[in-house]
Amino acid sequence: MNTLSLFRPEILAMSAYHVADASNFIKLDAMENPYGWPEDIQQDWLEHLKNCPMNRYPDPEAKDLCKALRQSNALPEQSSLMLGNGSDEIIQILMMALPNSATVLAPEPGFVMYKQVAQSLGLRYQGVPLLANSFDLDMPAMLEAIRTLQPSLIFLAYPNNPTGNLFDTQAIKDILATSPGLVVVDEAYSPFADASFIDELPNYQNLLVMRTVSKLGLAGLRLGYLTGNPSILEQLNKVRLPYNINCLTQITASFALQNQHFLLAQTETICQQRSLVLTALQALPGITAYSSAANFILFKLLIKSADDVFASLKKQGILIKNLSHQGGMLSNSLRVTIGKPEENQAFLKALTIALTDQL
Ligand code: PMP
Repeated sequence: MNTLSLFRPEILAMSAYHVADASNFIKLDAMENPYGWPEDIQQDWLEHLKNCPMNRYPDPEAKDLCKALRQSNALPEQSSLMLGNGSDEIIQILMMALPNSATVLAPEPGFVMYKQVAQSLGLRYQGVPLLANSFDLDMPAMLEAIRTLQPSLIFLAYPNNPTGNLFDTQAIKDILATSPGLVVVDEAYSPFADASFIDELPNYQNLLVMRTVSKLGLAGLRLGYLTGNPSILEQLNKVRLPYNINCLTQITASFALQNQHFLLAQTETICQQRSLVLTALQALPGITAYSSAANFILFKLLIKSADDVFASLKKQGILIKNLSHQGGMLSNSLRVTIGKPEENQAFLKALTIALTDQL
């Protein structure tokens, strides 16, 4: 018996999401906050963890955590909230609730998980290319794709990963007004961007805003959240598994949000470092670096091969993300996450060496 024939053809055709082994590298590949917790906060947190009844299932509605998230994000009262094991799980929940015939649409290059999850569930996925160089939404192409494909779900990452830019606000509003289906504005990088669609929630029935605590500095917790129209979230909640947010995450995230001054200070430092790294990258010959409203910077190699530069950086102990295999607008492109000042300096120094072949 060929046991592989048991699986759906789309699963057999897929590759698993690959995460690079980062041991012994300066890790600038995954949009993590590079800072740990101050000693006093850590002690206080360990005390809080004692309140975690490990023998019991966690609160299925994570009420305390929802309250803390509502407060810290200033969510409109009339919007509901659903939590996921990372926003990755929310993407999956959204798609699991759709019929098999549904189409999911997203601009490209974009966050790879939109396509990955759609494919794994056998849904039709359509990417719409962004405008080359500016990475703005190609509105005639978007509106045409919406008209012809009638997507049930559109993802707009705001700021976009991996390009780092914020799409035009009016363009997003036009998509919201034209779309027959749900539009998820994915604000994963909101801690670094001075823009949000949260205040627009009361104005659009089909708008959902998705956020995560990952980039704020809590990537290890796996906590994402979705907010919007209660009648939509009521349906999605039926797909969500009852105890998807474990008790350690609930207690830790509530604690961190109540003490978020230190996370916000770290975020502020990351934004300052982002300007310095961008200026330094833009001064280097042979690359184009794109400005970013997130905690990473995309850059394209104009002369050298991105694979060679990536390999040289690795040899020098620096791990960033090689996007060149994705092709198209990302051909010969790399993405670096903003780290601590000394890590950024080490990266810039190693990149200068990689570009000048001094190794
Ligand atoms: N959305 C975007 C745009 C992202 O870049 C990421 C992480 N790379 C996520 C969602 C997923 O975040 P998490 O699952 O850690 O909440």
